[in-house]
Amino acid sequence: MIFDFIKNIVLNFFFPKRCLSCGEEGNFVCENCLKKISFLQNQQCPQCRRKNLIGNFCKKKCQNLYNFDQLIVSCHYEKTALIKKIITAFKYRFLRELRTLLAIVLKTQFIYLSQFINFEENVVFVPVPIHKKRLGYRGFNQSAELAKELLTLLKTDEDFSRKFANIKFSDCLIRTRYLHKQASLHRSERLQNLTDSINFSPSCSEQIKGKLCVLIDDVATTCTTLNECSKVLKQNGATYVCGLVLARGI
Ligand SMILES: [Zn+2]
Ligand SMILES: [Zn+2]
Repeated sequence: MIFDFIKNIVLNFFFPKRCLSCGEEGNFVCENCLKKISFLQNQQCPQCRRKNLIGNFCKKKCQNLYNFDQLIVSCHYEKTALIKKIITAFKYRFLRELRTLLAIVLKTQFIYLSQFINFEENVVFVPVPIHKKRLGYRGFNQSAELAKELLTLLKTDEDFSRKFANIKFSDCLIRTRYLHKQASLHRSERLQNLTDSINFSPSCSEQIKGKLCVLIDDVATTCTTLNECSKVLKQNGATYVCGLVLARGI
């Protein structure tokens, strides 16, 4: 805590807070630009991207390739999207304020979708894991930070804390293989690279069995990571897996 405090003072001195979008001094995202974060109005089928209400699969043929049941995407992700800049700044500089801001983005979409899906009982938030080597140099798992912050925001929200009071958190997945330049690989290579790269922590068995898992990550592109994680969750008794991400890469 004290370290974060000192680090922030030093950072603010050398790098005064500027809006990541317009450069205005004062905040990482100024009030004006905050309004420009572009939320997805409709969800899509994760495979063919046909629009729908909750981000489930439109037909069996689309579902066949996946182990998860639904994917909720929060924002649009064009090349210049502000959300992209915020995610990058959050991941590489670990700015606590941005963690909260990003969790608010997830919360907005999660609460909206909770009208259509029962997220009240038997729900567990599960972060997509990162390898311990990466954890070593980054110092934190961005997905776990987002999941924990989202849970805190939901449980302290005046209007929704009761509705979501029973949601649990489980850091039950372990990444066993260190992956290089995942983003630059083709889908088939990524699949190969990811197969059996996720393990389950045996002590978490009771946390997952019979549960609806909300699998949280920052960005999903081909969904191979989400898929591999979902496979492991289902093998360990999860009845339903819903991905929840800030954005879907193009
Ligand atoms: Zn701005
Ligand atoms: Zn489809």
